[in-house]
Amino acid sequence: MARTIIRNGLVVAPGGAVRATLVLEDARIAGLLDPEQPVSGIVDADIDAAGLVILPGAIDAHTHFIQDDPAVDEVNPDEVEGFINGGRAAAAGGVTTVVEMPQAARPTVDGAIFRRRVELAQPDAVVDFALWGGVCGGQRTDALDEQIEAGAAGFKAFMCDSDPSFPGVDDAQLLATLEHLKDTPYMFGLHAESDSLLQDGLRRMQESGRKDALAHHDSRPAIVEAEAVNRAIFFAEQTGGWVHIVHLSAPSAAELVRQAKARGVRVTAETCPQYLAMDHEDLVRLKGFAKCAPAIRDRAQVEALWGYLIDGTIDCVTSDHCGFSADSKRRGEEDIWEAPNGLPGIQTLLPVMISDGRRRGLSWERIAELTASVPARLWHLAPRKGAITIGADADLVFVDPVRTWTVRDEDMLHTQQWTPFAGRTLEGQVVRTMLRGRTIYDVDHGVLAEPGSGEFIPALAG
Ligand SMILES: [Zn+2]
Repeated sequence: MARTIIRNGLVVAPGGAVRATLVLEDARIAGLLDPEQPVSGIVDADIDAAGLVILPGAIDAHTHFIQDDPAVDEVNPDEVEGFINGGRAAAAGGVTTVVEMPQAARPTVDGAIFRRRVELAQPDAVVDFALWGGVCGGQRTDALDEQIEAGAAGFKAFMCDSDPSFPGVDDAQLLATLEHLKDTPYMFGLHAESDSLLQDGLRRMQESGRKDALAHHDSRPAIVEAEAVNRAIFFAEQTGGWVHIVHLSAPSAAELVRQAKARGVRVTAETCPQYLAMDHEDLVRLKGFAKCAPAIRDRAQVEALWGYLIDGTIDCVTSDHCGFSADSKRRGEEDIWEAPNGLPGIQTLLPVMISDGRRRGLSWERIAELTASVPARLWHLAPRKGAITIGADADLVFVDPVRTWTVRDEDMLHTQQWTPFAGRTLEGQVVRTMLRGRTIYDVDHGVLAEPGSGEFIPALAG
């Protein structure tokens, strides 16, 4: 057994941030001791974390690593990521577990494809991973049970049309899926934008000849999201099923979630750094490089969205990391419609939440909840993941809370080396990441983990 001692750090445990000595035995957290208490027995590694904050490893529950499947010859050259480079970026950003989305050349929509995705990701995985199950138009309901059996962490669908290989669900299927899932512990995660309003918005922009960056937003304003969220909540309330709103961006939609929660409806929501730390000025400045769906909102809405994060309406924060190439995004320079929707973000997720969150008064404990303990609970990875507690996996992030640094494209480790946050100065830097007791990243040496060191974590909902 290998025993590691971590001294002098400010440990962000579920009860609050405390000065403590952490004792790791192999891959697990074995002790959380008073700093004055002597540590007895053999110590294999002794780490001094003086001046550092130790958070639970972040869980990014919304990634699009889109593992290539050699058996399916449809790789989009504009969208190349994968578990190796995506995982290296995760490690550098303090993310120790990802929950990968079902979209791929062949989306995860049944048990056989689910198991194939695990098999494909395993040899490449740098951090631990779980997988979403998928729900798409025209699917058999026993495909849901197959995916549950294979370890799905939750289920995802689109309420609007997105990728033709992963068609959106209509109201009838929304209802049927919630009826089916309501007696299970699993969420139905929804990309909530009204297809009808969105198609009309796109048509209106086309007719007016607009190709500017804000036309992207104006084709899908807040009401497009709010209407779909309202409908999703209605189905959750009628069936007793659990609806989770992915990448919530509009405060008007968040208000519907707040009211529904107050009525006892089973609804949860996530947002992403791009909706908290970017606004229309960024969309106008970055054009295609800030194009995502839902669209980035104006400053007043961004400010209001923070209120819903701080009051607990929004449960957690994810990246919605996508691997679109800079070339594909540059096509939006003259004509915004030419750029695809989606942004890289896994390496900046935790740093942006620490820097902007601390500035807005979020405690370390709250940051740990938003990025680790709540995702672990919602996607059934707890008690193994998500918190610094005895018996849990020793997934830890060491943060230098006062070090300021500037985000640069060239420091990104994901396949496409660019980030919409380039040029930002952030306060608080990830200086070391540990996965199951092993250091997988440190700021001086970079990523230390090999592909294949990550493990598949099936949902522990039993
Ligand atoms: Zn997504």
